[in-house]
Amino acid sequence: MTHSAYKSAYIGIGSNLDAPINQIQQAIQELAQLPRCELVSASSLYGSKPMGPQDQPDYVNAVAHIHTELEPLTLLDALQQLEHQHQRVRERRWGPRTLDLDLLLFDQQYIDHPRLQVPHIGLQQRNFVLYPLAEISPQLSLPNGTSLQQLLDNCPLADLVQLAV
Ligand code: ATP
Ligand code: MG
Ligand code: MG
Repeated sequence: MTHSAYKSAYIGIGSNLDAPINQIQQAIQELAQLPRCELVSASSLYGSKPMGPQDQPDYVNAVAHIHTELEPLTLLDALQQLEHQHQRVRERRWGPRTLDLDLLLFDQQYIDHPRLQVPHIGLQQRNFVLYPLAEISPQLSLPNGTSLQQLLDNCPLADLVQLAV
């Protein structure tokens, strides 16, 4: 990208199938290569317990920060295409997956579209999103003015572990 029409976006990444660490590392590289996008930073990898159905493997999570000139829905298309390339199959809600790419924040915008709600609905409660976010952008705030630090104060680390990879 050569000029400054870009917006900041944060992507939550998760996997619990088919070598999750590789899935996530590969996804970060793929995000870096998306057209009209630039990777700014990526968090460490974290291990977490599944939400919802417990009869599935533990998760690996990370968060990536990109700059993008894409419109939000075009970015969502690109994220879903990457999930598809990783052979993601949707069976049940919060079931196991090779790759989940969630658009967490898009430039302090509120988006309420049938395909896209931003800030992402689970952002405020999920330790596997908030802790990696804090690692790469500790000063971040939500569009409503709530600071990431306030959210962290109300969200225990619990079972989340930073992985040494
Ligand atoms: P959760 O959204 O609670 O983390 P999930 O990631 O498992 O659950 P998916 O099956 O990946 O859910 O996505 C279901 C739908 O959510 C998608 O088809 C997509 O259109 C919609 N969606 C709405 N807002 C977002 C967002 N901010 N990022 C990604 N997908 C979104
Ligand atoms: Mg998700
Ligand atoms: Mg998703």
